[in-house]
Amino acid sequence: MTAYDYDLFVIGGGSGGVRASRIAASHGARVAVAEEYRVGGTCVIRGCVPKKLLVYGAHFAEDLQDARRFGWNVPACDFDWPVLRDNVLAEVDRLEGIYGTILENNKVELYDQRATVSGPNEVTLADGTKLKAGTILIATGAWPFVPDIPGAEHGITSNEVFHLEQMPKRVVIAGGGYIANEFAGIFHEFSCNVTLVNRGDVILRGYDEQIRDRLLQIGLTKGLRFLFNHQFQSVEKRDDGSLLLHFEGQEPVETDLLLWAVGRTPNSVGLGLKEVGVELGQNGAILVDEDNQTSVPSIYAIGDVTDRVQLTPVAIREGHAFADTVFGNKPTRVDYTNIPAAVFSHPPIAGVGLTESEARNTLGQVKTYTSDFRPMKNVLAGRNERSLYKMVVDGTTDRVVGLHMIGPDAPEILQAAAIAVKAGLTKAQFDETIALHPTMSEELVLMR
Ligand code: NDP
Repeated sequence: MTAYDYDLFVIGGGSGGVRASRIAASHGARVAVAEEYRVGGTCVIRGCVPKKLLVYGAHFAEDLQDARRFGWNVPACDFDWPVLRDNVLAEVDRLEGIYGTILENNKVELYDQRATVSGPNEVTLADGTKLKAGTILIATGAWPFVPDIPGAEHGITSNEVFHLEQMPKRVVIAGGGYIANEFAGIFHEFSCNVTLVNRGDVILRGYDEQIRDRLLQIGLTKGLRFLFNHQFQSVEKRDDGSLLLHFEGQEPVETDLLLWAVGRTPNSVGLGLKEVGVELGQNGAILVDEDNQTSVPSIYAIGDVTDRVQLTPVAIREGHAFADTVFGNKPTRVDYTNIPAAVFSHPPIAGVGLTESEARNTLGQVKTYTSDFRPMKNVLAGRNERSLYKMVVDGTTDRVVGLHMIGPDAPEILQAAAIAVKAGLTKAQFDETIALHPTMSEELVLMR
């Protein structure tokens, strides 16, 4: 008999925590998970999944318009936000159920309450129950950051955005990253007047410069407003419910809705981690080694709470690697190179590998190839929106070290192309592949 109630106790039932639990259980471990809100975590409940469904919903605005050029007699159409919202929320409920079933089928015990760490091998549930575990895994994700300024609470975050009562007329989005650009597209397609406010002078820092410039240019053409170098000072709520946003040394801006999209902070506060000796970084990120182990040997952490790469598939990989290493006798480490990523903006952006400037800073010789084209569908639709694909090649080895694209279906195309980049294929090997015509992705093998 072991002295522990469980071999593994996971705090956080998001994508990473669920994967780790399921795999550890399949290796024979006795596993429990504590989730204080809803199983599925950020991605399923209030992130990637409902966001992508809104992106699909938003795209109909352009599709219905374009359909007329393709001969469809489309009468004037109205958009009904509550219908989309409720359908999306119902789908989220369905997925939450599936996640619960996954745990159940794998004999993982679920505690639907908060758990904190009360010792290297002990957790305490919100109802006071203390449980012993051989290993504890923290997979509590991250939480939207809201700046500490007067009136900040009048804004909402991505947690609330899926539940809006009605579509606002005017929306200000604070930030210029993933969430800001994705929701800028969504709100714009739903006929809101959208302003993005950024503290710096670039959007999507870290993405290839030419690609993000193209998104900016398309956004401006569509009628989005961008305010750069704006530092928020305060948010004032007025009697009519509207908000007046004040900035340092800039004109105030009026809006009906303010969405904070200024990053996400690791969710490590109040978990009892510091008290048991787990080392945290400056922003509260749990510091782990390559095997996801913290400074306390029996405590591990994966996913956004470690603030390595805040992406669901990375958290899933980390959870899987952790379970294989610790319970499967199969030491596995996550390879963080060439992780593909996408921004589901309108149009979307996707990229893998080095940007041109990263390549120039790290490699001796760099060649770049671009294809700047108007997709066939856009031409007939009379939509003056150009796509841009860019390939970054190591000039010495001919190896493709980066691919970056903006245009319709870019994330779908990039996922397949990322396999070739990850496999280290050369530009010549891309060129040897015969084009699949007529497609947008054929540009990948036609860049000269
Ligand atoms: P991002 O890190 O993408 O962007 C944050 C933005 O907020 C940047 O423009 C940044 O500006 C700005 N910012 C940061 N701190 C402050 C501050 N104190 N005051 C004002 N502005 C600030 O964050 P998001 O919130 O958009 O998304 C969080 C994370 O979630 C992403 O990093 C991503 O990993 C993940 N995510 C992934 C998605 C996907 O895969 N499609 C979709 C949504 C989220 P600056 O450039 O100056 O630093």
